[in-house]
Amino acid sequence: MKKNPIYVTKPYLPPLEEFIPFLEDIWNSHILTNCGHFHKELENKLCDFLGVKYISLFSNGTLALITAIQALKMSGEVITTPFSFVATVHALWWNGITPVFADIEPVTFNLDPNKIEAAITPGTTAILPVHVYGNPCNTEKIQEIAERYGLKVIYDAAHAFNVKVNGTSITNFGDLSVLSFHATKVFNTFEGGAIICHDEKTKQHIDQLKNFGITDEVTVVAPGINAKMNEFQAAIGILQLKYIEEAIYKRKAIAVSYREILNEVPGITVLNDLPGIDYNYAYFPVFIDSTKYGRSRDELYENLRNHNIFCRRYFYPLISQVPTYRNLDSAHEGRVPVAEKAAKEVLCLPIYPDLGMKVIQRICKIILSFRK
Ligand SMILES: *Cc1c(COP(=O)(O)O)cnc(C)c1O
Repeated sequence: MKKNPIYVTKPYLPPLEEFIPFLEDIWNSHILTNCGHFHKELENKLCDFLGVKYISLFSNGTLALITAIQALKMSGEVITTPFSFVATVHALWWNGITPVFADIEPVTFNLDPNKIEAAITPGTTAILPVHVYGNPCNTEKIQEIAERYGLKVIYDAAHAFNVKVNGTSITNFGDLSVLSFHATKVFNTFEGGAIICHDEKTKQHIDQLKNFGITDEVTVVAPGINAKMNEFQAAIGILQLKYIEEAIYKRKAIAVSYREILNEVPGITVLNDLPGIDYNYAYFPVFIDSTKYGRSRDELYENLRNHNIFCRRYFYPLISQVPTYRNLDSAHEGRVPVAEKAAKEVLCLPIYPDLGMKVIQRICKIILSFRK
């Protein structure tokens, strides 16, 4: 019997009928974009919800990253992780910056603070870590290094919507944090993103940069870009926000179920929650040690595909191994061994709010019975 395909994620949508009044508002007002009232309302609501001071909405997370780098006038070399989605490093490239890859730490899979200093040169201007899978980076150590060397820090927080450390949003750390609201993320506006900053002047500057650098009809203060979030996206965001806590709660239940079944399986490592952190359960990565599981990660990936279960290898290949970057010194094989191992072993299992218990059990059964 052929079962319906199960993908690693399924974009979350609020009830359609609740979106109709938003559409009517847009149709009646004819305000479609350029920071209308839904845009303002979503910024205010996100500040309250996340517990952050200033947020600027963007049409997508990649443009938010590119603009964040512009806003801090980063240049030269920036130290970053190879274990992320390519957009992290592409954003540096679009700013004419040379990425310098440093290795990640096991357990969190985030940039290893102990590997940063060795990568610093006179050309280094900043650090761009990623809260991978929503696991918080070691922000304290990274900040300490940044201050000692006079470097800026931008966090790619694309996976980390509503993740909190000791009750405070992880996006309050660093000079700037960048969120993505892409369809596949925990909180989505179809496409979308945001920059979080700490003061009004920076917020103003970022808002200018996302709107061509224009401040009024006759004044252009900077070579800005067009990266504004439109009213349709903002409206979707306002409505999604109503359901986000419920969605994260359901994601947690799924993660708990997976862990109960997979925790003790030889050759399979699952990540467990650390104390003091509120997670968002954006992803459910497992790591396959082929010597103990008896099959490689790719064999398991193919086997699941044959059962119509479409997992993803986040993140494989490493960014340092794609053609644009692989000839950089820091990208040479063996330079980032922990990341290389993770890229070879990782498999992200399906997780999204309405993934049923029966499907979770079916996925786990396939994983258990495929072991040799
Ligand atoms: C999704 C993602 C981005 C890019 O966000 P978009 O909104 O898709 O442009 C950047 N970095 C990471 C780590 C991501 O997962």
